[in-house]
Amino acid sequence: MSANRRFFMKTIAILPAAVVSGMAVAQNAAMKKNLQYQDTPKNGQRCDQCLHYVADPKKAGEGICKVIPNDTVKAAGWCTAWVKKA
Ligand code: SF4
Repeated sequence: MSANRRFFMKTIAILPAAVVSGMAVAQNAAMKKNLQYQDTPKNGQRCDQCLHYVADPKKAGEGICKVIPNDTVKAAGWCTAWVKKA
């Protein structure tokens, strides 16, 4: 197999993952914007009091949100999907 063909085959194999990753980042950014996400509380409501929040044990003050997958949110953050944790 020629060097050009090997390069082409490697590029073709990597490209879909890069495209999907880029789409996920863009999708998360759009979702955060649509939900009016902010890194600060609103009217006393915070992500760490929200039903959708899961704290990251390795990073104080950060966690993941079940509504915005594959991205982190601040414990002190807020968005319009906020639901009080029971
Ligand atoms: S739904 Fe909104 S308020 Fe609740 S954890 Fe996710 S980003 Fe924070």
